[in-house]
Amino acid sequence: MARKRWRACPECDLVVALPALRAGHSASCPRCRRELTYRARMPAERVLAYASAAIVMLLLTLPYPFLTFSLGGMQENIILLDTVTALRQSDWPLLGLLIAMSIIVLPGMYLLAVAYVYGSVASRHYWPGSVWLARAISHIKPWLMTDVFLVGVLISLVKLLTLADIGFGWSFWAFCGYVVLMAKTVSNVDSDWLWFALQDEPAPPTGTQLGEEAWSQHLVGCNICGLLNRPEDIHCRRCARKIRIPGSHSVERTVALLVTAAILYVPANVYIMMSTITVGGVVESTIMGGVVQMLEMGSYLVAAVIFFASIVIPVLKIVVLGWLCYVVRYGQPMSMQRRARWYRVTEFIGRWSMIDVFVVAIMVALIQAGVILSISPGPAAAAFAAVVILTMLAAMSFDPKALWQPARVNTQAQEWIDEKH
Ligand SMILES: [Zn+2]
Ligand SMILES: [Zn+2]
Repeated sequence: MARKRWRACPECDLVVALPALRAGHSASCPRCRRELTYRARMPAERVLAYASAAIVMLLLTLPYPFLTFSLGGMQENIILLDTVTALRQSDWPLLGLLIAMSIIVLPGMYLLAVAYVYGSVASRHYWPGSVWLARAISHIKPWLMTDVFLVGVLISLVKLLTLADIGFGWSFWAFCGYVVLMAKTVSNVDSDWLWFALQDEPAPPTGTQLGEEAWSQHLVGCNICGLLNRPEDIHCRRCARKIRIPGSHSVERTVALLVTAAILYVPANVYIMMSTITVGGVVESTIMGGVVQMLEMGSYLVAAVIFFASIVIPVLKIVVLGWLCYVVRYGQPMSMQRRARWYRVTEFIGRWSMIDVFVVAIMVALIQAGVILSISPGPAAAAFAAVVILTMLAAMSFDPKALWQPARVNTQAQEWIDEKH
């Protein structure tokens, strides 16, 4: 089965031939070192097993107590969905929706789609809708945040230990299992293998040359299944995804998202993130105030995590992405490899900024015991969540290929777009 499996590297756009891989091996781009594909042992069965187990764990996290909270002889059991209902009741329905989407709805949809598509592949029968769902898997993946939520839970516990006794319920342990199985599922889903199994491998367009950029040969690599297409095909020949022309207006869109994020970053830091009402009075804290509070309590690790996640990461991301946009437009004497490395940093760290929003949500839910103590989110929580989402969208809309061939890609992209219209 010697087929030409040629790909354009999604990061630097070099056209490379994928070798036949043995189980446990991966292939990387020879120029920018980005991993292109990974071959697991018995991929279909393995992913199906992990995804099904993760679905069972997700279901187990729902009915049982997640945490127990005792204060002054009163004990309260909190189930996972209480974090969502508590936010809805305290007039923050959007934050509640955000939590529900990022820890239950999107991961649940992802797991069901993965189980269905890999079931279809493992049974060697084509089940209807598999192609559509396989595309959905790629779209949902960047928004999975179960691991970030778990770290948020641990931080909230440290914050609350001074106020009350906290215990773990069954559902908490199921959630830990869910996070691990989810990570296993995600790391074993390889879109290259999946699309080959679902739709085989159409030959690359005639005249394709290895070792040159796809763009310079009038080719575009599909950003879902990786297949090489001609831009005039409009839709990918294998997965039918609309072909996204690299570099087209990506810089303008990224800059617009970054500017909005930077503006919202101001209220996120100036306004109250969380207010705690105790018998002693009301304590209102901003993001930085929360860090100082943790330092005063001697929880240096938590203070450091919140400081990095909420202050350093968003600023770093806005500055680095903004600077990369500048580089693409005006050029800079810096090696391509180093630019690509900076881009990967922003891509990797993005989701972790969400920790502080999760911390507030969990604390609000935990303190619904409410008589002696109550906690509610402040306007900064909404502004900050928006900053995180906007910077994630900015990183997604930025096209790293432009870093490897700044001037040419952009002018050529514009010419092609002009031709099309
Ligand atoms: Zn590459
Ligand atoms: Zn495709």
